Amino acid sequence: MVLIFNMRELIDNLNDIKLAIFDLDGVIYRGDTLIPQADRIIKELKKRSIKVVYNSNNSTATRKTYVERLKKFNLDSTISDFYTSASISSAEITKKKENANIFVIGEIGLREELQSLGHKIITEPVNFNEIDFVIVGLDRNFNYNDIAIAQKCVLEGNAKFYATNADSTLPVARGLKPGAGTMVNALITCTGKNPVRIFGKPEPFGIEMILNETQISAENTCIFGDRLNTDILAGNRAGIITVAVLTGVTTLEMIKDLKDKANISEDFDKNLIPDIVINNLDEIFKN
Ligand SMILES: [Mg+2]
Repeated sequence: MVLIFNMRELIDNLNDIKLAIFDLDGVIYRGDTLIPQADRIIKELKKRSIKVVYNSNNSTATRKTYVERLKKFNLDSTISDFYTSASISSAEITKKKENANIFVIGEIGLREELQSLGHKIITEPVNFNEIDFVIVGLDRNFNYNDIAIAQKCVLEGNAKFYATNADSTLPVARGLKPGAGTMVNALITCTGKNPVRIFGKPEPFGIEMILNETQISAENTCIFGDRLNTDILAGNRAGIITVAVLTGVTTLEMIKDLKDKANISEDFDKNLIPDIVINNLDEIFKN
């Protein structure tokens, strides 16, 4: 694993790239604002016949909403370009059981993705045995009644517990708010059970799904992400080239600190270290 600060090397590496996976928040936009030049870079990559897809841990919005959001930034996309933790969870749950009864802690993005695949969202189960899955994602209206129902579905019924992602925090315009991990850990605490699977980053699951669906190999794929313990960790675990972009939550100092730790400690998870670091996407095509 090499840490490249030389843009020439990055461009040389890009020659072998057939698929570029982009995290959204902190890479393409921050809140409601496009990160300068992100639109131009995406268009430039597509012009070079590099397939572009987006992979977000945020399960609150539907993929249709993401298409509309990028449209506002003058970026054309289709629903199939997006792999959110909600869409990944929904696709995978469907492989376990079709037309399942599901209790959801989560927002419209997760609910609609599940419903679109034929699943039934049960909001007030009469019989807890009728619930096949409890799926937990970020829910900004999270409350005690919901967690009590989820607990019963898992402990008194036969529901399998899954999580969209386990991010501890959610970056917002002014700092941080609680992330999906807050809800996931609430259910872990009151059931004593861990999720059967967490679908979002840093698990490599979503990236493996993207590689499988696009039929592009790991060595021809890179991920651009702003967060080391989700985007970069997931990318390295999946064996693709990882590029940290410093337009979001990570600074160069943080990466240098981690590299120092990696040199000292044998226990350190080297998958947290990106292959390449760039200040912004604009540097991809700069000589
Ligand atoms: Mg991000």
